[in-house]
Amino acid sequence: MGRPPLDGREPEFAMKDNRDIIEDLKKAMEFYRELGFDYLPVKLPESTEHRLMSADKITDAGPLPLDPCPLPLNRSSALQALRNEIGDCTRCKLCSGRKNIVFGEGAPEARLMFVGEGPGRDEDIQARPFVGEAGQLLTRMLKKLGLRREEVYIANIVKCRPPNNREPGEEEIATCMPFVERQIEIISPAVIVGLGRISTQSLLRSGTPISKSRGKFCEYKNVPFMPTFHPAYLLRNPKDKWLTWDDMQKVLEKLKT
Ligand code: SF4
Repeated sequence: MGRPPLDGREPEFAMKDNRDIIEDLKKAMEFYRELGFDYLPVKLPESTEHRLMSADKITDAGPLPLDPCPLPLNRSSALQALRNEIGDCTRCKLCSGRKNIVFGEGAPEARLMFVGEGPGRDEDIQARPFVGEAGQLLTRMLKKLGLRREEVYIANIVKCRPPNNREPGEEEIATCMPFVERQIEIISPAVIVGLGRISTQSLLRSGTPISKSRGKFCEYKNVPFMPTFHPAYLLRNPKDKWLTWDDMQKVLEKLKT
């Protein structure tokens, strides 16, 4: 006995419909590929592991993705889409004193990501993270470790400068943090370094002082996370530089695994 008609129609009509759907899907995939997207994230049935389906893998015989997620993005496009979403943000009151939103910068495919607290004066002016004195110390440290700034990704918990370089408040952190969480999700680094107390405590949702948490790997959503001192602290306490140096050696080791 043959397969029963689908939706009350004869099988040959249903098969023709399937072919049309496949053709339409292929055209749509080509369209997105021309726009620069490498793949479409697709949600498969629960029993099937979530994976990325390449545009090349869609064939007449292949399984069709179910329930496609919202738009397909490579990391660079996804970061740009997030930046667009932030727009000229006024979601918290830090917007009133800023000159620029400091989104973050670096390699979208970075294996190592640094998360600091928030922009300072120089960062606010230049719209770039860690470019002031503390940032220069971080850049020098990276260089000594054999890394270039361009190959890591650097972002902050809040994207606008708190007035007079005060610490961001709880509400400001809670409002802005989803953005850095999305950046982490998009970049999907192998290791995250939390620079300072605010970054570490916010991402780990912990109250442990940085002096106690630093130097010991923990996890942020299954990603190895190394808390260490903020470079601004190291400028004030240069005797502790070697501790951060030590922490970074552990990070380098972890990146090799
Ligand atoms: S700190 Fe974040 S949430 Fe607040 S205004 Fe700036 S971008 Fe928006």
